[in-house]
Amino acid sequence: MILSPTDQDRIEGFWNYCLKHQYFNIGYPESADFDYSALYRFFKFSINNCGDWKDYSNYALNSFDFEKDVMQYFAEIFQIPFEESWGYVTNGGTEGNMFGCYLARELFPDATLYYSRDTHYSVVKIAKLLQMKACVIESLDNGEINVDDLINKIQSHQEKHPIIFANIGTTMTGAIDDIELIQKRLKQIGIQRRDYYIHADAALSGMILPFVDHPQAFSFADGVDSICVSGHKMIGSPIPCGIVVAKRQNVDRIAVDVDYISTRDQTISGSRNGHTVLLMWAAIRSQSFLQRKQRIQHCLKMAEYAVGRFQAAGVHAWRNLNSITVVFPCPSEHVWKKHYLATSGNMAHLITTAHHQDSQKIDSLIDDVIFNLQGESKRSACF
Ligand SMILES: *Cc1c(COP(=O)(O)O)cnc(C)c1O
Repeated sequence: MILSPTDQDRIEGFWNYCLKHQYFNIGYPESADFDYSALYRFFKFSINNCGDWKDYSNYALNSFDFEKDVMQYFAEIFQIPFEESWGYVTNGGTEGNMFGCYLARELFPDATLYYSRDTHYSVVKIAKLLQMKACVIESLDNGEINVDDLINKIQSHQEKHPIIFANIGTTMTGAIDDIELIQKRLKQIGIQRRDYYIHADAALSGMILPFVDHPQAFSFADGVDSICVSGHKMIGSPIPCGIVVAKRQNVDRIAVDVDYISTRDQTISGSRNGHTVLLMWAAIRSQSFLQRKQRIQHCLKMAEYAVGRFQAAGVHAWRNLNSITVVFPCPSEHVWKKHYLATSGNMAHLITTAHHQDSQKIDSLIDDVIFNLQGESKRSACF
């Protein structure tokens, strides 16, 4: 590839920009502690996983064998027998959410999609695209769905087949909807197990809960019908991607035959990224269960540390159980811009992803926030 000197300068500039910002993302859940350099040589090839990894494809340059391994791994950690499951490597959490909702809608075409106020914005797009009726449920203060409100709304709609979009780690506070309680309450109002669908949006926490000692309910064994996780969040990836796992019997309903590549397709995209499959494969193969557990424990400890530091300075910071998302009052704009914090209303958060080996970056943020908020309260005390 030959670039003009001006373009070379430009790309060099962008390289330096990326180097400078590679660990900028304390407000976002992207882990940056990955090294996929062993796979760079595959960027020579136009790898394409169009269709189903389980079938033969006439497009020879696919990484289906690796995708099968990836799906086997996720079936195991999400607690479903591999033969009863089907899923694939997606373009990210949003596509996984869409796939789950699509399966649910095919199962219950007239049903309403219920989700809490704290749900990721992708759900709104998905409901529109799939032309599903949608109903927003109130959240509790910690970001969890308010199950009383959910049950009331299901009852007042006389809903026969509720589709529940459950958060396994909300974007803003890392809250986990109580799917055990939801199912207990559905049973109490006479809705049988076969008459509802639960999709679990586990974009971030899907790669945390399988590795902690006391996880909240989140898996197929706990009653979900599909679950998705982002590959570029907790796992870490230079290219956005994700994994979705569903029950095979529900997937069979949506398959279409494609004579052009002589395979079946039940995914949302046509051509699919074969490189991210290799990235996810290398990620799961290069760390043992124990190593992954230790990495997550480190992140959780850092989150605990951050809460402790804030609280010691009188700042009201908190986090949900098994969450690496630390919530605190939103500081002034110059502080949240300086640290690239994600904010929502009067809340901000930091996320203790795995590349924060020591507390240096976290401390500098906490120092700024404490200084800023204490200044604010002194100023307001003057009036
Ligand atoms: C990030 C996120 C998503 C969307 O995932 P993408 O990989 O960005 O498409 C969905 N739900 C939650 C809770 C998220 O945090």
